Amino acid sequence: MAVSHSGPTLTVDLAAVGDNVRAFRAIGGVPLLAVVKADGFGHGLVRVARTALAAGASYLGVTTLDEAVALRVAGIAAPVLSWLNAPDTDWDTAIRLSIDIAVPSVAHLRQICDAAIRSGRRARIHLYIDTGLNRDGAPAAEWPELVADACFAERERLIEVVGMMSHFACADTPGHPANARAVASFRDAVTLAEAAGLTNRIRHLAATVATQAIPDSRFDLVRVGAGLFGIGGGVRSALTLTAPVVLTRYVARGTAVGYGHADLTSGATTLALIPVGYADGIPYRLEPGASVQLSGRRRPIIGVVSMDQIVVDAGPAGARVGDVATVFGPGRHGEPTLSDWAVWARTLPQDIVTRIGPRIAREIVEAAR
Ligand SMILES: *Cc1c(COP(=O)(O)O)cnc(C)c1O
Repeated sequence: MAVSHSGPTLTVDLAAVGDNVRAFRAIGGVPLLAVVKADGFGHGLVRVARTALAAGASYLGVTTLDEAVALRVAGIAAPVLSWLNAPDTDWDTAIRLSIDIAVPSVAHLRQICDAAIRSGRRARIHLYIDTGLNRDGAPAAEWPELVADACFAERERLIEVVGMMSHFACADTPGHPANARAVASFRDAVTLAEAAGLTNRIRHLAATVATQAIPDSRFDLVRVGAGLFGIGGGVRSALTLTAPVVLTRYVARGTAVGYGHADLTSGATTLALIPVGYADGIPYRLEPGASVQLSGRRRPIIGVVSMDQIVVDAGPAGARVGDVATVFGPGRHGEPTLSDWAVWARTLPQDIVTRIGPRIAREIVEAAR
């Protein structure tokens, strides 16, 4: 049983996600794969997937097979690509549920073929080449062997090579020379695969920033994650985190606040207690200046972030129990944004949105249909 919540609430604006999908469809000019990994960047896997498909996405992308299976279990039939799995993953399930599998090594391909033989059905795969990220694709030196094995397995009707993919290392700096090198390496890899007989496959390389800023990287499909949530582009952010003031106290100048007495009040003021802390995803380490919005004004956090709570210096205007603080939002009403929090915590907005804890109630604003 859940109590009705007047407590901390994360509002997820699916209309914003839908608008961002349409914006990136228009920018990319090619079909869009909506990246919904990490619980849809913390916005909810299934609801983001449904919203993205309704707004024109034609593919869904996740890292683990478990995430892909969760989409199928929810009844989503659209193409789903999973790109980060061990070689001995339960490929039988991937094949049975028609989940596309990114293949970064010959070892992966071998085990996928074994599963295809067992199940008597073809696996749908995307060959994944590394073009400079040096992370999760096949090293260029392994590419010819991977292509040769894939051609053989396709002739044996064990697999269908649906696509070929790579991922940028330096897309956040569109002019970085590594990006042109990555596009050229990707073209070379595709040319080699085409010469081996793998023609007319879906070629995909660009994620959010490349879709916007590196036009020759768009190929046949763009894989957009962050931008769907208003991070690094997009129309607007979809998340608003609010929490009520649960206690106030009036204190004198020089009052030490919280664990370790890390801060002193700079004047007589009202302290407002807000029940969200690092267990809820509020970063523990914050630069000075971190604030929330209370009664239309930015008010600083004072003292260290506790596991479950923060204290805000409500200043001369004061605060009353029941006032609602906005921790972050799209920024249209002067509230802090995800970018502000990323600066205060010296991290990425992605890191903020994917760590909001399960204790926070979710309120979903449905996209218009
Ligand atoms: C996370 C990820 C994406 C999405 O990147 P964004 O910058 O969030 O759009 C695309 N492709 C791969 C392989 C990824 O890991």
